[in-house]
Amino acid sequence: MTATNDTAPPKLIVRGIPTEHAQALRRGGPDAHGQPPIAAVARGAGNPCRHCLQLIADGDTKLVLAYRPFGVPQPYAETGPVFLHQTACARYDADALPAWFAHLTPALVRGYDANDWIVYETGRVVAGTELAEACHAILARDDVAYVHIRSRFNCFQCRVERG
Ligand SMILES: [Zn+2]
Repeated sequence: MTATNDTAPPKLIVRGIPTEHAQALRRGGPDAHGQPPIAAVARGAGNPCRHCLQLIADGDTKLVLAYRPFGVPQPYAETGPVFLHQTACARYDADALPAWFAHLTPALVRGYDANDWIVYETGRVVAGTELAEACHAILARDDVAYVHIRSRFNCFQCRVERG
């Protein structure tokens, strides 16, 4: 027997930030506050790169910068700190969340509408192991265009869309 569409697990679209933007930042291009990224040594296991969506190894150099995960400034376009690998890495582009997100606990998750405004009823704080289920539940709403996952510090992790 082969799986049918009725039994196949639902897919998500999960991508890191655009490669062109990551490369511009690595060349010292301006962050969301118009400043060059700051190079620092990554310590511990809490330094996710927003391009490859993997953890930057302890001792490696990371770039610290302000990122606005929205195309244009508007009231809901939150801007905050993120990390990037200093050297080139492969953009994450998959139909599921990175496995290590299970340890992103607690995580913040919320939906945005087609105008990039928060859909307030969707905001949740969940365990990392519940993130995929939470994304599917929020994306089931007609008024939600996409979901953002953030750390407990409110740092943007990634955008999630319907697969
Ligand atoms: Zn990376």
